[in-house]
Amino acid sequence: MLKKVLIANRGEIALRILRACRELDIKTVAVHSTADKDLMHVRLADESVCIGPAPSVKSYLHIPSIIAACEVTGADAVHPGYGFLAENADFAEQLEESGFKFIGPNPECIRTMGDKVAAIDAMQKAGVPTVPGSNGPLTDDTERTLAIARDIGYPVIIKAAAGGGGRGMRVVHEEADLLNSIHITQSEAKAAFGDATVYMEKFLTTPRHVEIQVLSDGKGNAIHLGDRDCSLQRRHQKVLEEAPAPGIPDDIRAKVTKACTNACIEIGYEGAGTFEFLYEKGEFYFIEMNTRVQVEHPVSEMVTGIDIIKEQLKIAAGIPLALKQEDIKTKGHSFECRINAEDAKTFIPCPGKIKHFHAPGGLGIRVDSHLYSGYSVPPHYDSMIAKVISYGATREEALKRMRNALDEIVVDGIHTNIPLQRDLVIDEAFMEGGVDIHYLEKKLGL
Ligand code: ADP
Repeated sequence: MLKKVLIANRGEIALRILRACRELDIKTVAVHSTADKDLMHVRLADESVCIGPAPSVKSYLHIPSIIAACEVTGADAVHPGYGFLAENADFAEQLEESGFKFIGPNPECIRTMGDKVAAIDAMQKAGVPTVPGSNGPLTDDTERTLAIARDIGYPVIIKAAAGGGGRGMRVVHEEADLLNSIHITQSEAKAAFGDATVYMEKFLTTPRHVEIQVLSDGKGNAIHLGDRDCSLQRRHQKVLEEAPAPGIPDDIRAKVTKACTNACIEIGYEGAGTFEFLYEKGEFYFIEMNTRVQVEHPVSEMVTGIDIIKEQLKIAAGIPLALKQEDIKTKGHSFECRINAEDAKTFIPCPGKIKHFHAPGGLGIRVDSHLYSGYSVPPHYDSMIAKVISYGATREEALKRMRNALDEIVVDGIHTNIPLQRDLVIDEAFMEGGVDIHYLEKKLGL
């Protein structure tokens, strides 16, 4: 087993990783910025190192400081969490070169999945269904480009190969706008990502976001932990997630999950990962793979009973997956509400001191959060402060427990999006299940 893990992250996920390490008797190192010395996991870690000032480019994104912290503390591995350096192939590479294990896939895998054209190509080869499209970058051959679009049928979407975070995309509704839109997307991509490569896909008008969680040991063993529906999004940011995705026929689910585990074996994937799909009219269309643990991983843990972070740690230690696909039984239903320090109506971030925090409880309620009364939410980072997770034997029971939890939770001193979450869990269409990715923005009048 690993002996000492450095947690290169902050907030709830850092605490989540620390808990998993402790269960496996692994020592922990917390690294933090000057603004984060009072974080819960910093108090609990075996050792802590301040790696720089508040701005993340000078701390959580500053690779030399993190490697220096590994050297000083004698850590043998680094868990990157999500965000920050979690999908940075250079970071993974430099860690390995310095003799530290990066908890995640190898740099080559991260690089391939970070380039959307390369990722789609790898997935097609592995038999994962993708969105009909240009199958590769668009070239200067305008006749060919026009023909591809006619073939796919409008509307189409032009996407930057190096894009991310919902940026570098443009929808085109008719041929007259196509070439101009491609030029604009190319220049934007060049400016934002330093790479002008773009490709084309069919634009799906009312898809759901459904994703598959996988675990793969890089030694030929891969399993999936079922799916999650994350269609409730605002500006491509997920707000409320659930597992399993409601209303997906078993045969269709079986086919896509099998394709994902096959792909993991084919590309030699190591660690936890997520295949993100758009789902429309009974078809799955791959859009990207996240080569890390995700914010919404708890809903999969609740319905499978598998601790995804502990599995990541075991895989990183070189232990072959002990779990077989037939051991994974999805049972019941789970929801996750992301609680953000922001105004529920304007979404303006609202950092500040938490005067009082009361976590909800009861059977089937889990709260992943670093909050405590008296903690000050710093203004420098993501505004998510807690995840309230519910579990029930049925979707209805899990939803009722979530409603109770949202009534019980108290976060005094700052504004949060709890009022929005309370609205969502009594929304008729959401209660019905299966709303598309535009539903929340429409409901909010955006
Ligand atoms: P990013 O890496 O920036 O998150 P994705 O490829 O995952 O980019 O796409 C982000 C979002 O854009 C998707 O969740 C979906 O809402 C929308 N989107 C992407 N591709 C398509 C498509 N072909 N049709 C419709 N919507 C799309």
